[in-house]
Amino acid sequence: MSLEEYKGVFIFAQQVDNELSSIALELLGKAKDLAKDLDEKKVTAVLLGSGVGNLVDKLAEYGADRVIVVDDPALKDYRTEPYTHALASVIDEYKPEILLVGATAIGRDLGPRVSSRVHTGLTADCTSLDIGDFPLEPSPVRETKHKQLLMTRPAFGGNTIATIACPDFRPQMATVRPGVMQKIDPIKGAKAEVVEFNPGFEENNCYTEILKIVKEASSVADIQAAKILVSGGRGVGSPENFKILEDLAEALNGTVSCSRAVVDSGWKPKDLQVGQTGKTVRPQLYFAIGISGAIQHVAGMEESDIIIAINKDENAPIFDVADYGVVGDLNKIVPALTKKIKEALAAKG
Ligand SMILES: Cc1cc2nc3c(=O)[nH]c(=O)nc-3n(C[C@H](O)[C@H](O)[C@H](O)COP(=O)(O)OP(=O)(O)OC[C@H]3O[C@@H](n4cnc5c(N)ncnc54)[C@H](O)[C@@H]3O)c2cc1C
Repeated sequence: MSLEEYKGVFIFAQQVDNELSSIALELLGKAKDLAKDLDEKKVTAVLLGSGVGNLVDKLAEYGADRVIVVDDPALKDYRTEPYTHALASVIDEYKPEILLVGATAIGRDLGPRVSSRVHTGLTADCTSLDIGDFPLEPSPVRETKHKQLLMTRPAFGGNTIATIACPDFRPQMATVRPGVMQKIDPIKGAKAEVVEFNPGFEENNCYTEILKIVKEASSVADIQAAKILVSGGRGVGSPENFKILEDLAEALNGTVSCSRAVVDSGWKPKDLQVGQTGKTVRPQLYFAIGISGAIQHVAGMEESDIIIAINKDENAPIFDVADYGVVGDLNKIVPALTKKIKEALAAKG
């Protein structure tokens, strides 16, 4: 493999039912930063599907300079084999230096398959991506390589943070969970160069046949879309006592979320869990109430704009990441806070 042949930052532009997934736009935001650090002029989105040409302009508005479109009926609904064939063929043809994929159900299936097929490495669930030297510190036994993709993610059950590189193979592949990277503000009317590419699809015995698609209607709020989250932990004490958090959320027009201890106790559904094995959130305001601040929880909420922690233990680690901290009993503080907020809002009219 001649590494010099591989150029440019690519993202997999996931779409489902002809609608771009938010992660595609988030990855474009990050890809722009990486391209700048590599002195690359173009960011490329790879769009796979059937009848998806209408999505190109939105990708351009969110930062794609070029969109490679593979449009084929075989790609109508996600299936592992045709999507792997399409994305691996794009890599063989266009040789990206970096390829980012969303750590969604689709991306987690597709990314490793593709990396294996094109014989490169993939770092899953990255929490940050940078360009830099590898090894990070000069080593007498290892040549330092410059301008490598440094992929950072929690390791060993979240007890440490590892920075991983892929210096000897290309493309450098990473998956990133939704909510971790930020979209750019859309550039209205932006246009991208469109390249149509189709490697051809021949059904083989690895192709699955989709008989029926059954969609689950979610009964809980989308905590990743919420601007204000009122998050409760084991310290809330019981599922019934979450009522005081729901009252605060209602007063602020926010949404209730929780720690894993709450989900493991069966108090709240998994869809509301924030953290390494839950969702990554980035609200404008995050209340951590009765949450100790374990590293696996913090990994999912530390990018929130403002963090307010309420905990009776003044040494709880959550105070290390909080912008404002209140030490005391949540059973007294939360209802009092809700009352004050309601009074203030009523006074404003
Ligand atoms: C591989 C792995 C992945 C994990 N993924 C996640 C994840 O995605 N998300 C996650 O949250 N955790 C995750 N965890 C679990 C994590 O390590 C912690 O166990 C968990 O976050 C603890 O939840 P908690 O803070 O609600 O409970 P606790 O740690 O029990 O903390 C309860 C807090 O409430 C405070 N408190 C108690 N009563 C009151 C009161 N009356 N008023 C005020 N404060 C009070 C206590 O002082 C304490 O700080 C993971 C663990 C592992 C090993």
